[in-house]
Amino acid sequence: MDPDHSVTGQLARAADRLGGRRRLLVITGAGSSADAGVPTFRDADGLWQRYRVEDLASRQAFARDPELVWRWYRERREQVAACQPHAGQRSLALLQRCTPAPRRVLVATTNEDDLLERAAVADVVHLHGSLYDTACAAACGWRSRDSEDNGLSFLPCPRCGAPVRPGSVWFGEPLPADEVERIEGFAADACLVVGSSSLVQPVAAIAPEMLLAGHPVVEINATATPLSGMDGCLSLRGSACEILPALIDLMTSSLMRSRSSTAIDPTPPDA
Ligand SMILES: [Zn+2]
Repeated sequence: MDPDHSVTGQLARAADRLGGRRRLLVITGAGSSADAGVPTFRDADGLWQRYRVEDLASRQAFARDPELVWRWYRERREQVAACQPHAGQRSLALLQRCTPAPRRVLVATTNEDDLLERAAVADVVHLHGSLYDTACAAACGWRSRDSEDNGLSFLPCPRCGAPVRPGSVWFGEPLPADEVERIEGFAADACLVVGSSSLVQPVAAIAPEMLLAGHPVVEINATATPLSGMDGCLSLRGSACEILPALIDLMTSSLMRSRSSTAIDPTPPDA
C-alpha cells in the first residue's frame, strides 16, 4: 500500500522518525522568523530598497559608511523588538522541556533576532551572531549586548577606544567557531530543518551528511530547498508557525505516553 501522503500522514511519519532519538538538532532559518513578522530584506521599504544586503552587512560597507550600516541595524533592532515569537518557536521550547534526560534537543539558528530566546528556547546556538550585540570594530575582543536605546552603538569601544560595529556575522566572515563546535559536539542523531532555504557551509553540510549516515532528517519549508530532493529527506510543505506546532504536538504526546506507561509499569521491583 502507498504511504499516506496526506498532511496528517506526513506529520505522523515525521514525528515517528524524529521521536525516540537521543539527540535532535533543530536548525531554523529566515522562513521561521518571517512567520513572526520579522521583515526579510526583500520586504524592506523606503531607503533600504536601494541597497543589496551585501552592501550593508559587510566590513567593506562599514568601512565606507559606518553610520548608514548602524542606521540599518538600529532600525532592524526596533522592528524585531515589535515582533512576538510564533506558536512554532514556542513549541520548540515545549519540546525541550518535555524531552527527558539524557535525551536532548539543541536549537541552532541562522537568524540574528532573539525570538527563540523570547519563546523560552534554552541554549540557542546563534550561527550568524545576535542582532543586539555590539562589538569592537578593531577586534580587541570587546563585545556586549546593547541596551534598548542602542546606547553602546553610539560610543567608542570601552576597552580600546576604536569605533564599535554590529556584532552580527557579516558576508565574507567565518561563522563563530565556538557555536559551530557546539553543534559538532552535540553529535546529533536526528535533524529537523525549519524555514532554512539557504544555509552556508559548514552548516549546509550537516543535514546531507546525516542523511548519508542513515539518520532521519525532516524539513519544514514553504517551498522546495536543495535538501528537499535528497534521498531519505522527509519534506513538510508549509509555514513554520503552522506545521511545527502540529509536529511537536505529536512528538510530545508520544513522549508523555511513554512516560506514563513507565510510571504505571505493573512489573514488581524485584521481579
Ligand atoms: Zn576595542
